[in-house]
Order: sequence, then C-alpha cells, then structure tokens
Amino acid sequence: MVDLNSFRDLGLAPERLRAVDGMGWTAPTPIQVRAVPAALEGRDVVGVAQTGTGKTGAFLLPALERIVEGGGLQLLVLCPARELARQVAEEAAALSRGSRIRTGVIVGGASYGPQLEALRSGYEIVAATPGRLNDHLRRGALDLRRIRILVLDEADRMLDMGFRPQIEDVVRRSPKGRQSMLFSATMPRGVHALALQVTRDPVWVEAAPEGTVAEGIHEVAYTVKPSSKPDLLLQLLDGPGWDQVLAFAKTKSGADALRGRLERADIATDALHADRQMRHRTRALDRFASGEVRVLVATDLAQRGLDVAGISHVVNYDIPLDPDDYVHRIGRTGRAGAPGTAVTFVTGGELGYLRSIEHRLGRRIERVSLPEYDYGGSPLDVAASGRGGRSRAGRGIGARSAEELTDEELESLLNVSR
Ligand code: AMP
Repeated sequence: MVDLNSFRDLGLAPERLRAVDGMGWTAPTPIQVRAVPAALEGRDVVGVAQTGTGKTGAFLLPALERIVEGGGLQLLVLCPARELARQVAEEAAALSRGSRIRTGVIVGGASYGPQLEALRSGYEIVAATPGRLNDHLRRGALDLRRIRILVLDEADRMLDMGFRPQIEDVVRRSPKGRQSMLFSATMPRGVHALALQVTRDPVWVEAAPEGTVAEGIHEVAYTVKPSSKPDLLLQLLDGPGWDQVLAFAKTKSGADALRGRLERADIATDALHADRQMRHRTRALDRFASGEVRVLVATDLAQRGLDVAGISHVVNYDIPLDPDDYVHRIGRTGRAGAPGTAVTFVTGGELGYLRSIEHRLGRRIERVSLPEYDYGGSPLDVAASGRGGRSRAGRGIGARSAEELTDEELESLLNVSR
C-alpha cells in the first residue's frame, strides 16, 4: 500500500525526489498518488482532474523517468491554451533541473523561428497547442515517430475548442507503442470516446468526483442589477482579505471597461484576453503573480491553466453560461489547499444560469442580497425559478432579459469558434 504522505513510496528516482523537494512539495496530491505508480509501470492513464489538483506533476513525474537525454523529442503534451502550455513547460523544466533535458513551447501567437530551432535541436519535451503544432507538422518541421509519451491535457477544453482533428492527426503520426495519458476536468461522452481511442487499457484515476470544487473554497452569489456591478465590486474590494482578485468578464470589451473603472478608483488592475498581444498577456500575468497588480480582469481565455498561487478571490463579474466553466474559473482560487472565496454576480435574467451551476454541483450556493445593489427581481425569475421565489414587482424587464440571453448565447458561440 502506498503511503499517501510520501513521494518516496511512489517509485521515483532520487533525482526526481530532489526536484520535488526543490519545488517545495512535501507530499503527493491524491491524483499523483494514483497516477504516478501506474504510469511508471508504463500503463496508460486517464485522469479526471481539474487544474489545481497537481495533475501536471502526475504526468510529468513518471514521464521524466522515461526520458533519455539527447534522445530527441520524447514527451509531447497537448494543451488547449498558450498559458497552460507555458506553465506545463515551466513545471517540466523545474522538475528536470539538474539534468540536460530541454523543454520547448510550441504555441500560436509567437514567432516560428525559436520554435523551429527548438524542434531542430531535438528538445526532449514539447508542450504545445494543437493549432500551431499542426502547422509545424504540415511543414514537415516535426517528426513524432520517436515520441514515447503523449499527454492530452485538459482534453475536454481541447474538444470544446474544436481541436479533435488536430489531436487525431497527432495520434496518427505518433508510434502505436507510445504511452498515452489523458487528463480532463470533466468526462462528457466525447472526451470518454477520445480517451478510449487514444489510450490502451488505461488506468482510470480521479482526483475528486467529477465537477466538484476544491475543499476550502467559500462560494457566494450576489444578486445585483447590471448597472450596480462596478459599485458592488468596489465595495467588496474594500473588505478585508481581498488581496489578489481574479475577475471574469464575459467579453473583451467588458473586461477592458471594468479595468478602466477599477483604475479610475486607484486599484491596480490589468486585463487578460484574446485581443491583447501575447507579450501584454504575459506581462499582465507576471504583474498579477508578483502582486504588482491586485485585480486581474480576464475573459474565459484565462479560466484554465492560469496558475497563480495566492489568489484570494475569484469574482464571476459575469456569470459563466456553462456550469463547467464555473468549476474551472473558481478552481483558480483555493490552490493546493489554500483557502479562497468565489463570488458570483447574478442579475435578474441570469438566475437560470445560477441554477444550472447548482444543479451541476449538486448543491445550493449561498445568495446574498445587498439592498443598494440588488436588482429587485423580474417576472421572468419567478416563472423560471419555481423555488425560493421572492415576490417580484413586475418591472417589465422580462423582455429585455430574454434578449440578453440570446446575446450571451451568441457570444459564447463566437468564443468557442475563435
Ligand atoms: P496543477 O493541478 O498541475 O495545475 O497544479 C496546481 C499547483 O499545485 C501547481 O502550482 C503545482 O506546482 C502545485 N503542486 C503540484 N503538486 C504538488 C504537491 N504534491 N504539493 C504541493 N503543490 C503541488
């Protein structure tokens, strides 16, 4: 039986244990306890784990044991987003410190030159987003025939983004005898099918029941009128412990507008979204991680993979339309067992989304209503709610809410296809 409290019992080599020590990790996380020994035996692994559970270490640690220095590209990690690929590469570099194993990042939005150089000089590990990787594959810049380990990270998100053809192309080009690992925060049917297609007789491991939220995260929903959201946020930011805040906005323009509003109130703020150049996004992240910026306003681009220790609060300034996105967004706080708070703003037309989230979580989220900011309700809520319905004075915003829904759905469609 493996001792849950010790890396020593997972079967890792001494240099890996030193690297783990160097990371300041004292004990393996549950997903590491389950995945590492199986992967070390060469088994394929399918892991249901969200970011924040230590899943990156769960595949990197065993993979590093198998990588031969100077043996060319052997570990390929496919990630849905650039930030995630960069973080995987950073963790790989940190865990292989002391060896000559080199790690490269192949992502869109960066110039081809250094990427080609990394590919030509035979980096042992590459973390990549599928789009750019396929560009290189099509140009013949990359040969996957010597890949020993293929990892699909955040597979659900990659499928959501339409990357299935690129993933299948990578799988086709890599050797049949490779080891495959697939990690996903959720396991809908499409991901399940992909897991069966890519892996052979895998060990299934789960960090926590699907879609659950890390323990220690306090969740609360504020009912608010749309026009009062900025003031409510400013009031909350005055509260104790609001040290490092990640706020999610629905649109890029919404994120920029909120940033402007907070800056006018003298709150150090930056924004992270797809319209910003890569170097600005990197800078925003660095400033946030260093504490120079107190509030980072992001679109869903940043909901996954963003790994900043010490985020005290996640604010869903705009409620996520997809309950899975809620789980991923709030997973940015309460990292590695630290306490965190997730606050969701809910307007009158959005109660349905809150209920879908609660349905997904299997529990109710505490609601708070501050009279100065609350929306006072709409007839639509009562009709849709069916439970706990407060008495709503009909103020004729039902029609507007319905319009809002269509807009949001359109928006989310656009986001997905981008
Ligand atoms: P991940 O789920 O891979 O995104 O990891 C979340 C965070 O936990 C990262 O900052 C990791 O560096 C950190 N981490 C991973 N494994 C451990 C561990 N065993 N102990 C403490 N922190 C860890």
